[in-house]
Formats: sequence, C-alpha cells, structure tokens
Amino acid sequence: MAKITMLNPIVEMDGDEMTRILWGWIKETLIYPFIDLKTEYYDLSLPHREETGDQVTIDAGKGILRHQVGVKCATITPNTARMEEYRLTHLWKSPNATIRALLDGTVFREPILVSCIKPVVPTWVKPITIARHAYGDIYKGVEYRVPAAGTATLVFTDTQGKTWQEGICRFEGPGVLQGIHNKDSSIRAFAHACFRYALDKQQDLWFAAKDTISKQYDHTFKEIFQQTFETEYQDSFTASGITYRYTLIDDAIARAIRSAGGFVWACKNYDGDVLSDMVSSVFGSLGMMTSVLVSPEGNYEYEAAHGTVTRHYYRHLQGEATSTNPMATIFAWTGALRKRGDLDQTEPLSTFANALEKASLLVIESGKMTQDIGGLCTGMHPVILSSQEFIQAVRFQLERLLESRSA
Ligand code: NAP
Ligand code: MG
Repeated sequence: MAKITMLNPIVEMDGDEMTRILWGWIKETLIYPFIDLKTEYYDLSLPHREETGDQVTIDAGKGILRHQVGVKCATITPNTARMEEYRLTHLWKSPNATIRALLDGTVFREPILVSCIKPVVPTWVKPITIARHAYGDIYKGVEYRVPAAGTATLVFTDTQGKTWQEGICRFEGPGVLQGIHNKDSSIRAFAHACFRYALDKQQDLWFAAKDTISKQYDHTFKEIFQQTFETEYQDSFTASGITYRYTLIDDAIARAIRSAGGFVWACKNYDGDVLSDMVSSVFGSLGMMTSVLVSPEGNYEYEAAHGTVTRHYYRHLQGEATSTNPMATIFAWTGALRKRGDLDQTEPLSTFANALEKASLLVIESGKMTQDIGGLCTGMHPVILSSQEFIQAVRFQLERLLESRSA
C-alpha cells in the first residue's frame, strides 16, 4: 500500500521516561509504515531542556503557532529530587505551563470509553469532558515564604502611577503568601472555547467556581461566562436543545456524581487539573484520558493527560516488559493527524486516524489490553499484554481494517 502523504508538518514534541519509549514504538509500528510522516521535531526531554536552557520548549510552542497542530509526549516537570537525579542547573518550568502560556488556550480532556469497562460511578453512561482553563491562577502565581512577623499588602499601580492597596495579613510569625492573577481577555477566550466546544459536541455546558467566597476573582469568571453566553451563544444553545448552567464548585461535584454524564464541564485551571484525574479514574485509567489544548486562534496541541509513568520506566530499565497503556498517546497522535488532515483537506490522513482509533478500541473490546484496565473489565476474562504486544495487536487489527477497506 502506498504511504499517505502530508501537505504540512505537525509539530512533534518528544518527552521523557516510559512515555518516550512508547512514543518511539507507536511511531515505528503504527505510523511510519502507513504515513510519509512530516514533522517539525523538538526534543523536550529534560536533558535537552537543560542543554538548551529550556529554549527548546519556547521554540516548540512557537512552532505550534506557525503550524497550527502539535503532538506532545509527556515530560518531567522537575522538582528538587529530579534536579539531583538529572543534575539540573535550574528547576525548569513545566513545559505544559510554558506552552499553555504561549497559546493561551483551553485544555479539553475526554476519556476514551470502551464497552467492557463500566465506570466506577454506575450512572455515568456518557463521557464527561473536562475543559480546563489553561492560563493563570496558581500556575502563574508568585509565592513568598514569609520568614518572620510583618505585614503583607496587595498593591496595584496603574499606568499613570496611581495606586490601590489593601492589607492581606499582619503576620505574628512565619507564614506563606501567594499572588495570583487572571485576565479578562483570557477568561473570555476560555468562555468562547467552551461554548464552541459544547456546541460542536452538542452537549450541555457547566461552569463552576466559588463566587460566594471569591467576590471579585471568581465572580469575574462567572460574569464573563454569563455575558458571553447571553450575547453570543444563547440562541444557538436553545436551537440545539442544550443548556448552559453556572453552579458553585461544591454543588457541581455533588450534581456531577448523580448525573448520567454527557456534558462539558468548564473548570478553572486548578479545578481542571484535579477533576480530570478524578474523571479519568472513574471511567477507567489515566492511560485512557485524552487531552487537547485549543487556542483562541485555532491552534491545537494533542497529548495524553497522564505523566511519564516513572515507576514503569524504572522497571523497563531493569529489563522488564511493562504493561503501560499506550492508548492516550496513540489518541494524541490520531487527534493531531486527523486535525492536520481536516485543516489541509487531506482526507486519507483523517480516515487513517479514524481507522487507527477504531483498531485500538477493537483490540481492547476483543479482550486484549494492558494491566491498568484489565482489572476493570467486566463480562470477559481479559488477556493482559505488555505495551509492545498491545501495540503489535493494534498493528495487526489496523492492517486488517485497511485491507478490508481497500478490497
Ligand atoms: P503519571 O506518570 O501519570 O503516573 C502515575 C501513576 O498512574 C503511574 O505510576 C501508574 O500507576 C498510573 N498510570 C499513568 N499513566 C499510565 C499508563 N499510561 N498506563 C498505565 N498506568 C498509568 O504521574 P506521576 O507519576 O505523578 O508523574 C510522573 C512524571 O510525569 C513527573 O515527573 C511529572 O512531572 C510528569 N507529568 C507530566 C505530565 C505531562 O507532561 N502532561 C502530566 C503529569 C505528570 P501504577 O504505577 O500504579 O501502575
Ligand atoms: Mg494533574
């Protein structure tokens, strides 16, 4: 079979540890044999970020702004233990935070559902997409460890030099301080992305925050969402028979647990970080959670929602064949390839992406899967495969699918 050609490249961001290993296997086995792959490659592994003073992450982000589509492998966000392990000169920032800040986008996380895995919350029969605001709050926070007694004040100076200030706390001894911010423009872009995504998916949109306590900060989010909805989306929502609702974050959690799923849940940055792990665990495994960052200009960055799976990597280094789930990473590739195909009107690329997703799902539904989801499977005795065996099984299934189509 002739390989599919691409008109424009995808920005490819390689990463760390076990996911870097999976990345290589996925490309070798599931992509190269079928596609004449065009990528602009950036190595975001921690050693290479160290070598380039993290410039490579900024270059990769700018690459996405140029080419509109990126696919990213999980990367280590260094902490002090990693600093020693990798002999770093700096505690480099999270690459995801750097790229999100460049793209100012919204992250949509959706679980991959398979019929043999019943969610832990039995009422959740439809997927819940977490839409995570990807700018600001604690992820762009400034922190200070207060060493001793003193006074903390919040000060704002406008461009004319006029100041506003208010006391935060009079410390009698040591403590902690944090300064966080967000911008109306970013919140508005977030709101637009969520309303558009909900219309695209034909699903209700929920937004939740804590405006009863946070009377300026969270209240601003609530107001901007409401205004955006009323001025631009209310009519289309009504026509589609879908709804938008705002609730307090604690109430939203209680309602979500009792719901049937099937909605888009817009979350502030931190809430989205936490809730996406909860949602993915309910539906199966972190290895089954996809993630896409969408910028207001229509740039897309696809990745798995999970990290570099360090524990598996150390076992891999000792020669063990680990059963790390490659599904979310495969779906990051299919998401990027399909988007490239759609944007460039290269239909075979989008069709291939759909076939690869279908083949992966068929393998799991035939009872072959990785360890993490094996125990969650009902109505069959699953065969547990190593990552490489699973990827091989997908290859076999994919070839059969493509052959039956070309026949
Ligand atoms: P993690 O890599 O997501 O793994 C946490 C645990 O979840 C694993 O130990 C494993 O459980 C399970 N798991 C996650 N993905 C799996 C998969 N594909 N297949 C099977 N099991 C899976 O999170 P972490 O251990 O907290 O973080 C490791 C590194 O990843 C850190 O350096 C962190 O900075 C980085 N990280 C990167 C990103 C990103 O680039 N987007 C996101 C999060 C974390 P068992 O060990 O019990 O099998
Ligand atoms: Mg997280």
